[in-house]
Amino acid sequence: MKNLRDMTYEDMLSSVSALDEKPYRAEQIYGWTYNKAAASVDGMTDISKGLREKLKDWFCIAGIEPVERLESSDGTVKFLSRLEDGKKIESVIIPEGRRLTLCVSSQAGCAFACAFCRTGKAGLSRNLHLSELASQVIEAKRLAPGNKELTNIVLMGMGEPLANYGNVVKFLNILVDPKGFGFSHNRVTVSTCGVVPAIKKLAHDADVNLAVSLSATTDEVRDILMPINRKYPLALLMESLKAYPRTGKKRHITIEYVLIKGLNDSPADASRLIRLLSGIKCKVNIIPFNTFAESSFEPPADERLRGFHNALNDAGVTALIRTGKGIDIQAACGTLAGGRDIFE
Ligand code: SAH
Repeated sequence: MKNLRDMTYEDMLSSVSALDEKPYRAEQIYGWTYNKAAASVDGMTDISKGLREKLKDWFCIAGIEPVERLESSDGTVKFLSRLEDGKKIESVIIPEGRRLTLCVSSQAGCAFACAFCRTGKAGLSRNLHLSELASQVIEAKRLAPGNKELTNIVLMGMGEPLANYGNVVKFLNILVDPKGFGFSHNRVTVSTCGVVPAIKKLAHDADVNLAVSLSATTDEVRDILMPINRKYPLALLMESLKAYPRTGKKRHITIEYVLIKGLNDSPADASRLIRLLSGIKCKVNIIPFNTFAESSFEPPADERLRGFHNALNDAGVTALIRTGKGIDIQAACGTLAGGRDIFE
């Protein structure tokens, strides 16, 4: 039995032709699976009962089970879902003006062990399947505040999207396919801690925005804060960003910079960041460190934060301060942990 939510359009097409059905059936099934979020083959009401019976011998629809929904005083919603093997993941829905952004998890846990991030503290459990990625979108549509439509998708939840490359690329393509979820290309963003070979590949495999978590301006500091830097140091990372293709398309690059007191928040850091980014068209999100119990890092002093922000803007680098959303429900960047705080 195959789960339709684990299949791309091409997979459905070859399965349908193996069953001696017409190709347009694949299109119908694909539309029902993602866009119309059918809960079962029986829900595909414009397919004859006879054919549905036949399809049910081969296909099922299985998703994730949201078991907890928390709503923050700022309107952010976090939901915790149980996977078929009992693992748990979190997804966050963030209202911001007219936008409603879903922050999707790509792995249960994370192997990359960034020093400032809570998700990595317990290591990686496993990659999420395509069905578990797609189901976060389907469930978020039901759980969104005020039943509003999702406008943006960011892969910035638990895990490293580019370490779950195959499933993430399939998911990205279904997100932006008009017959899939139908999001516009410039409203889907995949975020990485800097897996350089995968950034280079992604440029060919999907047409979406890229966010890169930088958070340090020297290899010395980045090696400590983000161990991935020991494998792919700053020079290689910046070179891959310069090569990321955007001509003729509306792709954006965002640099995420977690600002931590006394570690990466000095005026010298701001100057080095400006130099690193010269020649790369991008904007910078400055994220003041979000605290959590297991960490001894602290957020920057207000004047350091303002100084850093002003230095970038004065140098013509567009920078925004992104304050933590959903702090009261542990939904802010870097604080997702698969509900250990809720269940244990
Ligand atoms: N692994 C990917 C996707 C996760 S995105 C990546 O690293 O980009 C999560 C974002 O939250 C990253 O930009 C990360 O740098 C940031 N982050 C992690 N811990 C944080 C913390 N304690 N406070 C603020 N931001 C944090």
